[in-house]
Amino acid sequence: MKGKGNAQKVKAFFKKNIYYIVMIVCILAIAAMITVAVVLGGEETAPTPTPTPTPGDVTDQNPPDDSDAVNPGDDDTNTPVDGTPEPIVFIVPVEGATVIKDYAMDSLVWSATLKQYSVHPGIDFQGAEGAVALAAYEGVVTEVTYDQLNGNVVKIDHGDGLVTIYSSLEEPVVTEGQTVEQGAELGVIGTTATKEMSDGNHLHFEVSLNGEICNPYDYLSIGDK
Ligand SMILES: [Zn+2]
Repeated sequence: MKGKGNAQKVKAFFKKNIYYIVMIVCILAIAAMITVAVVLGGEETAPTPTPTPTPGDVTDQNPPDDSDAVNPGDDDTNTPVDGTPEPIVFIVPVEGATVIKDYAMDSLVWSATLKQYSVHPGIDFQGAEGAVALAAYEGVVTEVTYDQLNGNVVKIDHGDGLVTIYSSLEEPVVTEGQTVEQGAELGVIGTTATKEMSDGNHLHFEVSLNGEICNPYDYLSIGDK
């Protein structure tokens, strides 16, 4: 009787709590599935737990790795230009000058002296009476010469194949071998270059790189390129 009563009680209990029981069974089933999935997942992707430490590893690696990786790169790019870490910027080689003839190697410009169109490998700077040619950049005077076409000419070597040439000077005041600072006076500008004598008092200014004439505007901070 007792047992029967118990059985009935159990039956009644199950009947009464069937939803809870089903829910518990379901939860257990889901929990079991999750456990299996985690275990299997853990086995398949064994390093999965490592992602947690990975951020630490990454941040640990990054500062030394990045600085080591980036800085040598910077050093590498700097190394070839160690002598000239800063870009070379010329000053206008005649104070208060006016450009009366621009650099023109790809086109022809009229030459009042030669009465013909020709290329112009430099810039002509016109200055006031007594205006002085100035070293566009620091360097060493390598040539002080005279010839009828170009007049008195001063050449300054700035290193790395870069040379500035100052033509049509009245009387150079520097000598070969002299080291000059940027802005050093080279001599009064004039009309000694007979090939440009009709252009009046001016400095004919040229720039060459590794022996090739190049555009002075590549180095001057003024004007159009
Ligand atoms: Zn000229």
